[in-house]
Amino acid sequence: MTQDPAKVLHDVFGHAGFRGRQAEVVDHVMRGGSGLVLMPTGGGKSLCFQVPALCREGLAIVVSPLIALMEDQVAALRQQGVAAAALHSELEEPERREVWRSLNEGRLKLLYISPERLGMDGMLERLSQRDIALFAVDEAHCISQWGHHFRPEYRALSFLRSGFPEVPRLALTATADERTVDDIRAQLGLEDAPVFRSSFDRRNIHLAAAPREQERSQIRAFLREASDGRGAGIVYCGTRARAEQTADWLRADGYDAMPFHAGMPSEDKRDAHRRFARGDAVVMCATIAFGMGIDRPDVRFVAHLSLPQGPEGWYQEIGRAGRDGLPARALLLYGAGDIALARHRIQQSPASDEQKRIERARLDAMVGIAEAGTCRRRVLLRCFGEDLAEDCGHCDVCAAPPRLYDGTVAAQKLLSAALRTGNRFGLGHLVDVLRGRLTDKVAQFGHDQLPTFGVGKDVAEGAWRGVMRQLVSQGALDIAVENHGELVVTEAARPVLRGEHRVMLREELIRPRSARSSRET
Ligand code: ADP
Ligand code: ZN
Repeated sequence: MTQDPAKVLHDVFGHAGFRGRQAEVVDHVMRGGSGLVLMPTGGGKSLCFQVPALCREGLAIVVSPLIALMEDQVAALRQQGVAAAALHSELEEPERREVWRSLNEGRLKLLYISPERLGMDGMLERLSQRDIALFAVDEAHCISQWGHHFRPEYRALSFLRSGFPEVPRLALTATADERTVDDIRAQLGLEDAPVFRSSFDRRNIHLAAAPREQERSQIRAFLREASDGRGAGIVYCGTRARAEQTADWLRADGYDAMPFHAGMPSEDKRDAHRRFARGDAVVMCATIAFGMGIDRPDVRFVAHLSLPQGPEGWYQEIGRAGRDGLPARALLLYGAGDIALARHRIQQSPASDEQKRIERARLDAMVGIAEAGTCRRRVLLRCFGEDLAEDCGHCDVCAAPPRLYDGTVAAQKLLSAALRTGNRFGLGHLVDVLRGRLTDKVAQFGHDQLPTFGVGKDVAEGAWRGVMRQLVSQGALDIAVENHGELVVTEAARPVLRGEHRVMLREELIRPRSARSSRET
């Protein structure tokens, strides 16, 4: 007997109605369809599979990458009276036996399982002795090498398509990057299945970013603005030491602050989680180890003390604020040193060249957000393939647009250098051409013969990088990360090249420092 989704939503989960595209997804799965769900963190992905799991005949199998995440969801479901359980490596033998007993007796509706367990010999045969209502693959970006959390065990999930062609497969993720999306669809056999893409816009979160100048007073002002000392929030600190120090000075300031990082004993971490879940105005000073499994809907603010590695991670972290839909705030502090350090780390890492290129592109996108000269939300959402029709009116740039400089000429020079060299080179080489440096490579390709050779001497190398980032964040240039990181001029660049569209750049990115200060005095 199937049940009515709206009734289950109300009776079991206590919600009045579906949000966003939830109803469509649920409806599709109820009719036996497979698909991919792209929603931001806090968008309500879980109900997309939990409701059909309860409505359809049989057992729903939910693949999830983290034990803590499984345990959280199972605990929450049980509290709502749903027969759910998790199978993972940390179960004690009696617990494991109990899970199997309820499975065999047909009492379970949802089983959470790790991909490696699901892939174990005989596991699927055992499970398939029961009717399977659906497979949900949560955090599905883990299947893709393009994603920032690749998990090789997820690759094995491609057997779901061949082994259970009749059973709906629902993949869910908060990563909307096109390459990742394509990869998920290919791996899980969802090429012909619909993609349910929600807007990634979380309009209730106010966005701001600023160069890190006086960190403490910047954070103090932000906390006052964000919660007036009453709401809970997270300050992401970059390193363990800074998490400890930040908690110390905030406590001295009278905040209920505490540190959280992977180096703490596990009982302290559990304790911190509990206090964060229950305390009124707890300020968690954390490394990115703090995140998965936070289900507090009323987090009022998230601050970052240094530049995150990429837009996906940052958006996931700030997305933990304001899940209740009420106003929340995000602040990003960054320094020029962060960018150089991140570049250096990528350079030194043992990752493959391909992986390094991906990480560099991600970093550039992140810097583009931090240095946005136009609506910050627009720049951010463009990273997720979404174009806002208008400026958001709810970010720091909208509130106080930075002084912009007409950088059209510099932009045209860079774009034409990329075009004339065949869209085949990275920034380093293009800057050599623009600044008229006769390197071996320039000579080898005869680029010293181009009309663009040497036309950009007036702009410093670092400023060229700023111009590039602005062009990338405005969509006029693409970084071909899947190849060699070469810069590719897009269609959106045509009006710029024809002089029909002016490119406004943030003044400090392009003007030499001395020229700027003399103008200001
Ligand atoms: P995600 O997995 O996409 O990050 P969750 O599934 O954890 O998001 O949902 C985020 C929050 O939104 C949860 O607190 C959940 O209870 C709430 N929520 C989701 N859907 C609805 C709905 N239709 N009505 C009310 N609250 C909802
Ligand atoms: Zn805006």
